[in-house]
Amino acid sequence: MPPARTRLIVPLTQPDPAAMRLAMAQAVAASADAVEVRLDFLADPHPSDDTLRALLADAPCPVLLTCRCQAEGGQFAGAEADRIALLARAARFGGDWLDIELAALDHAGPLLAVARTPSPRTGAPRELIVSAHDFQRRPDLAAILARMEAGPGTVNKIAFAAAGPEDAWHAFDALRASQKPAIVLAMGEAGLPSRILAGKFGAFATFASLAAGAESAPGQPTIDQLRRLYRWADIGPDTRVYGVIGCPVGHSMSPAIHNAAFAAVGLDAVYVPLRIEPGAEPFNRFLDAVLARPASHLAGLSVTIPHKENALARVGPDHVDALSRAIGAVNTIRLTGEPDRPLEGFNTDYAAAIDALVEAMDTTREDLAGQRVAVLGAGGAARALVAALSHYRARTAIYNRTPERAEQLAAEFSTPAGPVTAHALNALAEADAEIVINTTSVGMHPHTAACPLPETFDLRLGQTVFDMVYNPIETVLLTRARAAGARTVSGVEMFVNQAVRQFELWTHRQAPRDVMRRVVLDRLSC
Ligand code: NAP
Repeated sequence: MPPARTRLIVPLTQPDPAAMRLAMAQAVAASADAVEVRLDFLADPHPSDDTLRALLADAPCPVLLTCRCQAEGGQFAGAEADRIALLARAARFGGDWLDIELAALDHAGPLLAVARTPSPRTGAPRELIVSAHDFQRRPDLAAILARMEAGPGTVNKIAFAAAGPEDAWHAFDALRASQKPAIVLAMGEAGLPSRILAGKFGAFATFASLAAGAESAPGQPTIDQLRRLYRWADIGPDTRVYGVIGCPVGHSMSPAIHNAAFAAVGLDAVYVPLRIEPGAEPFNRFLDAVLARPASHLAGLSVTIPHKENALARVGPDHVDALSRAIGAVNTIRLTGEPDRPLEGFNTDYAAAIDALVEAMDTTREDLAGQRVAVLGAGGAARALVAALSHYRARTAIYNRTPERAEQLAAEFSTPAGPVTAHALNALAEADAEIVINTTSVGMHPHTAACPLPETFDLRLGQTVFDMVYNPIETVLLTRARAAGARTVSGVEMFVNQAVRQFELWTHRQAPRDVMRRVVLDRLSC
């Protein structure tokens, strides 16, 4: 018999039993497979039998009954005997699955007795979930599992604080090692893949909140995110995994873009956020963990701030293209599965910028040769752009608030064929350029009234003005440029371009650009 599909359980954390019962109906409407009634969240620690009956009888879906003590992250503050008694009493009225902590087994006699009686809802035998929680670190998972396997439970559950996303992969190891059906979750933002990919690794269940703010543990996604953003129902054992490495990473639009793209072309793939703390050591720790587990099907990574340099160092200069090497940053990694060349690195930022420009101008990269380009800014985005402009032999002038940074960039990338000069920002008014590119954050949300160009700057017909800022879509700079008759290029095009390139590098398929563009525009217009 094939193993049962991983259940999606919504924990109910309302303090009022009537509100909890209402939330039960909402969870079913949101396609939850089951709910977890968290008795420890009830404001009254001594609910009457009538209250428990009204809460649990005739439940519209399977119910997991839990009354978590504070030592294991719950809310129940009373005596341990009262907690066990409440759970056992509630289980007379409902509960298809009952949760008891490994540490409480020795004094959980009344609950163990009721666990042997059938579910009042279905008449079927109940599952006894024996759980362990560590909110500080990843404990010795094998040792805990060994104790659980020997105990009375029918399902093992371990939840622990994740130090990095590699802890999700340790959780998957434990899922595979468990003899009994199991739930193993890495908590916190870094552990999110353990929740999203629980179905791929055959977990008994995963947990998702009904809405943001209603989580019962750190890092829980909402059921809507799991079902719609991460395509929960489509994730299976063979699903290929992609993700974005960054810190922070919660705000990234990339999961929405790439998951929509996978759905549009019918690829069995999912894209997850991977929060990795700054530094080469946490970055390499994650790469080591996933490379040691090829069966986890991790196939591609986007890399964003602050890890692009770490990515280049890890992939190795021999396994990246020449421009990525010159820029000193890799924002895309392909995992090849080949032992002698496991990682390949790319920089899609420069190609995305250059192509957004030449596509709008209806020319080619080669046509940039000899064109006068004013680049505003000398940060990370400018670096990739200036390297490419010089490579394609444009005549580039960098204008930056901190002139030393402009000078550094010019010195690094200037060549006789593609000269780059450096200037102070206040010299911009005299700049004479056919192409103007803003790479500063001036004009970006929330300071949307700002414009990086002085009023005196001569914007004119025939010029091309490219603003890398993509939020807002229409910046003051673009509005001014259009009014002056210049051709305009929005940062959205570059943003979409780099995601399109990543998709194509990973999948060797044509990316559904329109779908990806629509996701970006929808997100930006919310
Ligand atoms: P960064 O490395 O922090 O560089 C920021 C640049 O903006 C620096 O040159 C900085 O000058 C300048 N700057 C900041 N505030 C300024 C101000 N008030 N007046 C004048 N100059 C100011 O950031 P980044 O990664 O290059 O990103 C820059 C912008 O590009 C952001 O808006 C980002 O969203 C956008 N971007 C867009 C895409 C896309 O796909 N469309 C991709 C990457 C980046 P100093 O050197 O003097 O500090």
